[in-house]
Amino acid sequence: MSVIHVVGSMMIDRVARVRAIPRPGETVAAISTATFAGGKGANQAAAAARCGARVRMLGRTGSDGAFIRNALREAGVDVRAVRTDDPRSGAATVMVAESGENAIVIAPESNRRIAPGDIERFLAKAREGEIALFQNECSALEEGIALAGVRGMRVWLNAAPADGRLAALRYEKLAGLIVNETEAEALTGEGEPRRALEALAARMPGGTVVVTLGAQGAIAWSEGRGHAHRGFVVDAVDTVGCGDAFVGAFLAAIAAGQGVGRALERGNAAGALAAMREGAIPSLPDRAEIDAAVALGEGARLPPRRGGGDACLACGHSLAAAAIGGRCPECGAEVVESPFPPKWRGFRTRARLRAGAWMLAFASACWMGVALLVSVDLAFGIRPMVSVGVMQGAVIGLVINYVLASAVGGALVAWNWPSLRGKIALGTAIGAKMLVIAGLLLISLVPALRGMMRVGEEILAIPLVAEFAGILIVLFAPPVVRLASGLRVAAIALACGLPAVAIMIQWPKPAFGSGAESIVATLLLAGGAAGVIAHAGVAVRLFRAQRRGLAR
Ligand code: ADP
Repeated sequence: MSVIHVVGSMMIDRVARVRAIPRPGETVAAISTATFAGGKGANQAAAAARCGARVRMLGRTGSDGAFIRNALREAGVDVRAVRTDDPRSGAATVMVAESGENAIVIAPESNRRIAPGDIERFLAKAREGEIALFQNECSALEEGIALAGVRGMRVWLNAAPADGRLAALRYEKLAGLIVNETEAEALTGEGEPRRALEALAARMPGGTVVVTLGAQGAIAWSEGRGHAHRGFVVDAVDTVGCGDAFVGAFLAAIAAGQGVGRALERGNAAGALAAMREGAIPSLPDRAEIDAAVALGEGARLPPRRGGGDACLACGHSLAAAAIGGRCPECGAEVVESPFPPKWRGFRTRARLRAGAWMLAFASACWMGVALLVSVDLAFGIRPMVSVGVMQGAVIGLVINYVLASAVGGALVAWNWPSLRGKIALGTAIGAKMLVIAGLLLISLVPALRGMMRVGEEILAIPLVAEFAGILIVLFAPPVVRLASGLRVAAIALACGLPAVAIMIQWPKPAFGSGAESIVATLLLAGGAAGVIAHAGVAVRLFRAQRRGLAR
């Protein structure tokens, strides 16, 4: 499989949704804003890598563009040649009006700092016959094409945007050219795409020319033969990045040795799938999704996409267009990076989170039962009414259910949490709790250990002490202290341990039956209530967020 070497742009796309595009001199307030990774080079590199191609990228940004490099790395692109130390990143300021109309200002900045020397060093690692991919958003395009040609590489150009800088383009140096209808017209003056295709093909004998036609698919001319694929039917949500998805998937197929016909089919599938999601990089499909779409056949209607698609856990808003390190456009929660490959993120299903929420709610109910039984017994004495054995059985049963439900529910929520920090925080709290519980169970079951540790016989102390460990983690573990708002609630829920404090005060002889009964009863009741509120808080939050589209 040939490596694809991308020399391309990286941009920070800042999008503001406005009621209407402001007129000169006018100031308007945005309805919402979002920032995301962009630039045709970055999008296309990510698209090809997600299709399984081996991709290297040369690009430049400032330090605030480092999140684009991370997004590329996550997609599987080799980003060792990406520099993030320029004074200013390339940026696109996009205004989208309610009518769908938009206005865009591009500031190429560091993309215009790519020098022929950078490209020469980058391509020094390339082998003859491998693919070099360029677009028209960076400096040194002509020199880059010439350098790749000298190395015997197959040079592909996505001639976008088709501006005056392409007037001097040496078509004969290209192995392939990919343009959309508008660009085809700008380059040839032909409004009819098939005519434009013919005109471009005439300039590149022996090369391949592709013209994408939006929802109508794409046409191509290669080695004296025409190809056409009428694409796929989808409910388009956002066509930003469709062209880039097409280019990436098309070239990934070419790099894998497939013919132009097959490559067209895969490019169209990728473009159509990308139209079903917001944003550019977050909307890119992977190889399996493209395989499934292609299997449905040309012109087929594609089913809605499942899995992936980050949503804010605090409010359920789609984070497809938000940048890592930025804020949720709806509620302001911090957006953090997930280290897991997209196919793992597909596990974050609505069903799993709902199951986790139900378990936490059940844990709350068990806690309430324990707190009520124990404190009512201590305050009013129900032992004369029911036997001690029944009372203990009920408490122990509830405690076991509480431990299991909070462990399984917490683990489900942690596993499905969209951010790494969340996973670590919740996972650590649960892990620590389980460790302490296991340790204390051991102590309470092994008589020798029990004598040594002088642990009271109340098995109730076990989960309570575990809760206390959770509190310590939440208070003192650095990653946990800086949690986003929704996560804080969850962590507190998993750690809520006022009852544990009550037990600890009396440690090592729990005070049941002693003179301190009434104090302990009050503390237990208060602690139990806090535990109930916290667990239930997480559960309710998850239920509410899910109603608003969490974890699609
Ligand atoms: P660009 O995004 O560069 O303007 P196009 O609009 O031609 O390019 O889209 C590129 C590819 O994405 C198309 O060839 C097609 O496969 C796919 N595509 C774009 N829009 C749609 C749509 N509404 N429905 C289905 N496929 C689409």
